[in-house]
Amino acid sequence: MTFALSPEHEAFRRSVREFAEAEVAPYVSQWDKDHHFPVDVVRRMGDLGLFGLTAPEEFGGADGDFTSLCVAIEELGRVDQSIGITLEAAVGLGINPVLTFGTDEQKKRWLPDLVAGHALAGFGLTEPGAGSDAAATKTRAVLDGDDWVVDGAKQFITNSGSEMTSLVTVTARTGTTADGRAEISAIVIPSGTPGFVVEPAYDKLGWHISDTHPLSLVGVRVPADHLLGERGRGYAQFLATLDDGRVAIAALAVGCIQACLELCVQYAGERTTFGVPIGAKQGVAFQISDLAVMAHAGRALTYQAAAMKDGGASAAEFKQAASIAKLYTSEAAVTATRIATQVFGGYGFMEEYPVARFYRDAKILEIGEGTSEVQRMLIARGLGLPVE
Ligand SMILES: Cc1cc2nc3c(=O)[nH]c(=O)nc-3n(C[C@H](O)[C@H](O)[C@H](O)COP(=O)(O)OP(=O)(O)OC[C@H]3O[C@@H](n4cnc5c(N)ncnc54)[C@H](O)[C@@H]3O)c2cc1C
Repeated sequence: MTFALSPEHEAFRRSVREFAEAEVAPYVSQWDKDHHFPVDVVRRMGDLGLFGLTAPEEFGGADGDFTSLCVAIEELGRVDQSIGITLEAAVGLGINPVLTFGTDEQKKRWLPDLVAGHALAGFGLTEPGAGSDAAATKTRAVLDGDDWVVDGAKQFITNSGSEMTSLVTVTARTGTTADGRAEISAIVIPSGTPGFVVEPAYDKLGWHISDTHPLSLVGVRVPADHLLGERGRGYAQFLATLDDGRVAIAALAVGCIQACLELCVQYAGERTTFGVPIGAKQGVAFQISDLAVMAHAGRALTYQAAAMKDGGASAAEFKQAASIAKLYTSEAAVTATRIATQVFGGYGFMEEYPVARFYRDAKILEIGEGTSEVQRMLIARGLGLPVE
């Protein structure tokens, strides 16, 4: 399947770029320093329609394609990775599970605010003892009369504790299957439910502007109709939504590589050593050429996978393309930020220069929504190898 971004996609890219340059770029360094989650800007992203790009019109969305969402994430990520992940997680982990698996009533109740960007939702899959092996979840939910009672803990949950957060969907063991495995279901927990405790935000290496918390669940009681999708299908549902998320993370990584490329081209033309710009030295120029290759290759893999989603490719084909795009772009982004920091020399180690922030922010791309090792495992399985 081939892809090409349409003139409409390119016009949309320009409008998101203008927004990011005007509303994010001037302030981002200070927000990063202050670990400040800029609610006003997130709301303005909502006004721009970014949270509803792929949602149906009946919930206030634009009914647009997945490619447009990737373009928006790439452009926000080119200016700041935290702002890009805020959109990515809000749609991929917040809106999509409700949209894909919710009942009509659940969609009507929760989607309009999320789609408008008036509220954010998180998804709590990871636990202190269950990350890559997410099926090892220890959080439990028991039906007590007309309520689910949920007990457990979740870890590293994005958009889970901001003042805009309206709900978090969590996975929990709701029983045991006939063959003795854990029955895992997804349950929506509205913010402020007694016993649902948002613990203090993490002190992270990067993504300082993004909202990430551990969550405690102590006797959390929600009505039985807060079960999302079929009982016992919570884990499978989440794995399906992760495929989209991986392509969206790839778009975020492409934004990071593109930023490194542009910053390096400019700096290497201005900074002089030994009487000439450093860009005149092959040792520098060739590394910047490599950045251009990474940006092109990463963009091709990402938008090809997005086009497969939009074009209705089979789930197996899309899954493989999503893992390939995520693996390549996230590892390329880490390499790109290392190169960019090196091109900037000592200044690249100073927080005053954006390359330092991109360097800190890139590492998580190889970890979140499935580590590089997990992607390699999935790709190998897709090739038919009997890998564990
Ligand atoms: C900033 C941030 C935001 C996040 N947001 C969310 C969120 O919103 N919702 C959510 O549910 N989770 C979220 N996560 C969690 C993230 O998805 C997990 O951290 C990730 O899946 C890895 O799980 P883990 O940290 O438990 O590492 P582990 O699973 O313990 O892995 C440790 C190491 O072992 C390797 N490894 C594990 N199993 C295998 C294997 N079978 N073969 C080879 N290598 C293996 C891993 O690749 C890794 O290198 C977030 C994490 C961070 C840091």
